[in-house]
Amino acid sequence: MAVLVYVDNSDGNIPNSSLESVYYASKVAETNQTETIALTIGNIDNSTLEGLGNYGASKVYNVNNESLNDFDSETYTNVVDSAVSKSGAEIIIFPHGYISKSVGPRLSARHKAGFVVAAIALPKTDDGSFVVKRTVYSGKAFADFSITSDKKIIAVQPNTFSPETTTNTASVETLAIDNVADGKTKVLEINKVTDKVPLTEASIVVSGGRGLKGAENWGMLEEMADLLNAATACSKPVADVGWRPHSEHVGQTGLTVRPNLYIAIGISGAIQHLAGVNGSKVIVAINTDAEAPIFKAADYGIIGDAFEVVPKLNAAIKNM
Ligand SMILES: Cc1cc2nc3c(=O)[nH]c(=O)nc-3n(C[C@H](O)[C@H](O)[C@H](O)COP(=O)(O)OP(=O)(O)OC[C@H]3O[C@@H](n4cnc5c(N)ncnc54)[C@H](O)[C@@H]3O)c2cc1C
Repeated sequence: MAVLVYVDNSDGNIPNSSLESVYYASKVAETNQTETIALTIGNIDNSTLEGLGNYGASKVYNVNNESLNDFDSETYTNVVDSAVSKSGAEIIIFPHGYISKSVGPRLSARHKAGFVVAAIALPKTDDGSFVVKRTVYSGKAFADFSITSDKKIIAVQPNTFSPETTTNTASVETLAIDNVADGKTKVLEINKVTDKVPLTEASIVVSGGRGLKGAENWGMLEEMADLLNAATACSKPVADVGWRPHSEHVGQTGLTVRPNLYIAIGISGAIQHLAGVNGSKVIVAINTDAEAPIFKAADYGIIGDAFEVVPKLNAAIKNM
């Protein structure tokens, strides 16, 4: 009864959210005294697959079939389901994202399996139950869900767990799966809207708050983000008034990020904002108010007007 964890393939690379899920799965497997098997789809270097052992996987199933190059929820469900059968897994873990949102419910329906999305803690199993915590009501509350079915599915909230790594490597097995082309839909064309690094995966995030006064002033933040190969983010009120899309809103009710560098510009540092960013390795704050709470959370601070500081920083970065 292994724990099976689905691992995303992003052009041959494995996103952090998947590495965190492998680590999460290995902790669940440890409690259940079983092994962790990772499932990947598509072309990924063998050494990268073996490296999933660093995060706790003992084995990796890789399914590499041309008909799976484009994501299709139905065919991907067939593949995951085949891996569930082969591994005998009772617990299936996904990183919470578009694949967990589309494959997870199908799998759940097939197996009548309880499914908890956006889990923020390891399951509690002390009294024989299986309880998973997640946030609810847009992050205003936590809820504990008891999964009572034999099969259990969990999608792990990205940037919630910091994996501890080892030097272990995983064995890699190529899985041949026959029923992959059963989908009732077919991808005809994909038009990429952006090549920018996804916010939850970015190692640098340039984030703006209400101190920027309006949507028209975001050009200097976008310039900084381009120079640093960073993603842009914002505080909640900025998304609420429509200066930036809600997909960029970080904090208690938005996304959680954990980059190496988080640059907070014109953000006061309210506790609800910090809840989504305080896992960042280094926080730099730029704010006119020396008393702003963001400076307590920041590693480096510049007390100054963003409209003067940011263009100067951009010029300095260009010169580097
Ligand atoms: C239940 C609940 C959930 C919430 N969830 C979230 C969440 O997920 N994320 C989130 O962000 N917020 C959230 N909030 C809102 C949060 O409490 C704050 O109101 C919000 O984070 C403040 O946004 P801000 O820092 O952009 O704006 P403000 O608090 O208005 O701060 C603007 C800052 O800009 C500075 N400033 C002004 N002019 C300049 C300038 N020219 N140069 C530099 N600095 C300047 C000011 O000194 C100030 O510190 C939530 C609130 C509640 C009640």
